[in-house]
Amino acid sequence: MPDHSEHFSTTELRCRCGCGQALMDADFLKKFEDLRTAYGASMIVTSGYRCPAHNTKISHTGAHGPHTTGCAIDIKIHDAAAYKLLLLALQFGFSGLGVSQRGPMESRFLHIDNLPHPAYPRPRVWSY
Ligand SMILES: [Zn+2]
Repeated sequence: MPDHSEHFSTTELRCRCGCGQALMDADFLKKFEDLRTAYGASMIVTSGYRCPAHNTKISHTGAHGPHTTGCAIDIKIHDAAAYKLLLLALQFGFSGLGVSQRGPMESRFLHIDNLPHPAYPRPRVWSY
């Protein structure tokens, strides 16, 4: 059962390195819950919070990447569902959208974040 917010559990939002941290930003998660409600179906989180050490290991964004702020979530999704979620994310005003929609269906995802800080140029869309 979800325990971190209405639809998401600490288990799915925590850093995947084993450190156990799930330092999600409260305002971001509230906004993401609104997105989830509008989407109206379950979402598969592939990445929520990442500690600086783990992000440095797996991403070129390093110790200060979007996921280290707790204001970013990756959702495993493709095709029509990805279109729907992307459209909603734009309508809700999320400012950073990473699109990974090629290669095996199993590895396709959308990165959704909301990072107004000057260190993260937004609004922005990118592909992987
Ligand atoms: Zn970690």
